[in-house]
Amino acid sequence: MTVFTRPKTKTPDIIKDASMSKQKEMMNRHYERLSDAPERGEKVAATFVPGNLNELLMCFDFANNLPEVNAIQSGLRKQSGGYVMEAEKSGHSEDVCTYVKSDIGMMAKGNIGPNGRKLPDPDVLLLSYTGCFTFMKWFELLRQQYKCETIMFHTPYMADGKMTKDMIQYMVKQLKQDVIPKLEKVSGVKFDIDRLREYMRKSAQAEDDLVWVLQSAKTKPSPIDAYFGGIYYIGPIFGAFRGTDDAIDYYRFLRQEVEERIAQGKGPVTPDGDMGKERYRLVVEGPPNYTHFRQFWKMFYDEGAVVVASSYTKVGGTYDFGFRHDPENPLESLAEYCLNVYTNRNLPMRVDMLENYMDEYQADGLLINSIKSCNSFSAGQLLIMREVEKRTGKPAAFIETDLVDPRYFSGANIKNRLESYFQMIEQKRAGVRSAA
Ligand code: SF4
Repeated sequence: MTVFTRPKTKTPDIIKDASMSKQKEMMNRHYERLSDAPERGEKVAATFVPGNLNELLMCFDFANNLPEVNAIQSGLRKQSGGYVMEAEKSGHSEDVCTYVKSDIGMMAKGNIGPNGRKLPDPDVLLLSYTGCFTFMKWFELLRQQYKCETIMFHTPYMADGKMTKDMIQYMVKQLKQDVIPKLEKVSGVKFDIDRLREYMRKSAQAEDDLVWVLQSAKTKPSPIDAYFGGIYYIGPIFGAFRGTDDAIDYYRFLRQEVEERIAQGKGPVTPDGDMGKERYRLVVEGPPNYTHFRQFWKMFYDEGAVVVASSYTKVGGTYDFGFRHDPENPLESLAEYCLNVYTNRNLPMRVDMLENYMDEYQADGLLINSIKSCNSFSAGQLLIMREVEKRTGKPAAFIETDLVDPRYFSGANIKNRLESYFQMIEQKRAGVRSAA
């Protein structure tokens, strides 16, 4: 679910802003740390992006390996197609989430990470279950492979659209009675709650700047693209850097960069340089495609379309409605963080969120990118689309791609759909003008 570095590419003409280069350097460091972990005697935890307990894992000195991030990296590097086929050869169905198949295929081919070095076997699998059933099946496969300690941290689904005290207490109890003792056992490190508080204080600081950056898209023209660019911005906070000084520095740096863009009246930086005139402001629901990431993005910026808000940048945590990691109530706050992630929200909550984005970010329309192999996002998307369209009176459209399976990216079809959609927006504007 989340990206984080630009693909190793043979096209040196890609334009990057300084924050993207900084983020790439951080991710390279992350992979080097992982590859070096066995040599340095560091234990490794595998865990997923949504609901990841990075601050807690750091209390036990684990290096944090995120399998979806590895799948995304394989997608960006055009290696995932081969991995997916490898997994299908060994019996995984076409409908299975392609992150899983990319990961399984990568393991079968020697588990070589994006830095070209072998990724270490995990010592513990920590599943913070946040609404996607695939995660459970994925870790069952990894448990068969690695036969290591497996911890399930269950987050109750917000089926009624509410977070209750009972839910939080239930989760805190799991942390105290199961998660923390097992992490102590595997790591050999005693839990220190003050250490956790310190990491959470740092998380909150970085989260403030991240929210500021995401909300900068309310400006016209938007200085950022909150979907394609947003994927870079969420990398450090959704992954192995939340709770570190590196994350604080990165988000401060990013914020300053965006402040400068606003001061200069500039739009986002794209791989082809500054985006020209902003013509369409969109809200996007659903994950992006990674195998054709640049081509996909280009279809938007060539038309002057900028994404001002997206649900995908909330998949590893929703911060823009006020949540921050709270050092005063660390365990309760970890629970609240997991409950809040996008895939743990019911459909009415998702509709409300998107409607809110349409209004607050003055968007021209909603675009849904439905991912063939991601049931967690795709279920109910048509209903979401109709409901947001009805409530806002603004046009919505639906396209289909896949995460990291290149067989499901049909560039010409998507381009046609987008062009028709932009025409629809124009017609809607003309209708509004003539009515006025
Ligand atoms: S099905 Fe969707 S939410 Fe679940 S792991 Fe795959 S991409 Fe993530």
